[in-house]
Amino acid sequence: MSNWRDNVRKVVPYVPGEQPNQPSMIKLNTNENPYPPSPEVQEALKQFPAERLRLYPDPTAAVLVNEIASYYKVKPAQVFAGVGSDDVLAMAFMTFFNSETPILFPDITYSFYDVWAEEFRIPYTRIPLDENFCIQPDDYKRKNGGIIFPNPNAPTGAELSQRAIEEILQENPDVVVIVDEAYVDFGAESALPLLEKYENLLVVQTYSKSRSMAGMRIGYCIGNEELISYLNDVKYSFNSYTMDQLTLATGVAAIRDDAYFKRTTGAIVETREWAKGEFRRLGFTFADSKANFVFVSHERKAAKEIYQALRERHIYVRYFNKERIDNYLRITIGTRDEMEALFAALKEILG
Ligand SMILES: *Cc1c(COP(=O)(O)O)cnc(C)c1O
Repeated sequence: MSNWRDNVRKVVPYVPGEQPNQPSMIKLNTNENPYPPSPEVQEALKQFPAERLRLYPDPTAAVLVNEIASYYKVKPAQVFAGVGSDDVLAMAFMTFFNSETPILFPDITYSFYDVWAEEFRIPYTRIPLDENFCIQPDDYKRKNGGIIFPNPNAPTGAELSQRAIEEILQENPDVVVIVDEAYVDFGAESALPLLEKYENLLVVQTYSKSRSMAGMRIGYCIGNEELISYLNDVKYSFNSYTMDQLTLATGVAAIRDDAYFKRTTGAIVETREWAKGEFRRLGFTFADSKANFVFVSHERKAAKEIYQALRERHIYVRYFNKERIDNYLRITIGTRDEMEALFAALKEILG
């Protein structure tokens, strides 16, 4: 009997939301932005000379890193860019979570964290959210090998206050604390100002949600220069050319069009606030969301049944068959028209 299988790194992979392709479907299951990227992105695509693809891209991604740094008023040496924030987060796990003591993250959170921890053999402990699905800073006052949580949290949408984040940082000066701000642009407060006081803080953001570019794969993080230099060392020891030339060009174009960014994120926030009232009227309850989705549970009808009934109507939302949250649906905020179609379908389904 051969036993080469004993030496394989076996992992249970992350399962992304499905990408169905039905005509006239309404897709509210993966928190994509319902609006197209800035017209400047289309322009950058048109202008891009294919001839340039002969050359390798700049491994430092300088044009994009510089643009992000100037947008957030930090030094370029404080910015690290990658192929979506999943790439940035995976690099950060590899770089900063190297202790024998478990890292900490919430029990209900982005389901990639435990996948990376398993893959990189990082011990971890899941800290239960309180009964209102909120992170309690006191629960993070224990010995640990690092901390990560999204703010707002996913899939709950709940925001953790700046004061609470600072409390966690004050208690944990000896480990790296990562705040995953995938949804921060929809009205939550960013932890970026805390960078001045805490050298062990890393803030991760993405173009996938608020900048409508999930298909381009751009993520980045901001932290102090020393943290970023360690991240770069690990990246260059793994794959130097992570970001291609076309991606860099579109990333620069998108962040330059701040008026468009403010207009589209503003429209989503407005639709979300209106949708909260509609959900309430239909008998749904939810934690207050500051993200581009809401996490709802119905007073009478099981989430799984609603999910299936919507699916039959080609309306896709996310259902997690997991402990504590198996009676909830995570519903992305689409355009006003998409949400009106959703509510019309829900009225039918709920009778
Ligand atoms: C969507 C998401 C990401 C990853 O997004 P990318 O498309 O890889 O940038 C990371 N964290 C959370 C919490 C997310 O919801």
